[in-house]
Amino acid sequence: MARQEVPQDALGRLVEALRVLPGVGPKSAQRMAFYLLQHDRNGAAVLAQSLGEAVEKVGHCARCNTFSETEICSTCADGRRDPSLLCIVETPADQVMVEQTLSFKGNYFVLMGRISPLDGMGPNEIHFDRLLNRIESPDTGVLVREVVLATNFTSEGEATAHYIGEVLKIKGIKVTRIARGIPVGGELEYVDAGTLARALMDRRTVG
Ligand code: ZN
Repeated sequence: MARQEVPQDALGRLVEALRVLPGVGPKSAQRMAFYLLQHDRNGAAVLAQSLGEAVEKVGHCARCNTFSETEICSTCADGRRDPSLLCIVETPADQVMVEQTLSFKGNYFVLMGRISPLDGMGPNEIHFDRLLNRIESPDTGVLVREVVLATNFTSEGEATAHYIGEVLKIKGIKVTRIARGIPVGGELEYVDAGTLARALMDRRTVG
């Protein structure tokens, strides 16, 4: 993106700032800024405060890498879950989707991305070293017996599943991939819970 000068005035800076949102160009940013200032100054103040708080307080779970305000997130800290079963997803939104199926009672690892060489996303960007660490020297005290690959069925998601699957198989770890029901090119976030539950149940061993 071309480097732009920071506007001198507060309104200009607000419009520029709103453009960090995905899919928001200059026109929509301006519309949002005008709306907030004209119709909802209280809402704008709450938004500003919430953003500040979230940026300050929300970090990543030391164990599964999802968003968390505590060192270990509530899912990882839940003693009723099976830490020997590890589901790998691309985003916290995908994790929420898998949770909504009510059919997975293991732990997660959230990559916070996908392998996509064209976008400069490689193993480092998906925190692969942390994933390996979670599997090979788990601080849960329980060895991982199965890794379920639940990345999206897009080309990047498939490439990510392939890469992780190959490395883990060499290390002798059982790797499965969620199966049927997810359309080719499909993203978990937009699949209904029933279909995703079925795909989890029908997961198959990789390779
Ligand atoms: Zn966690």
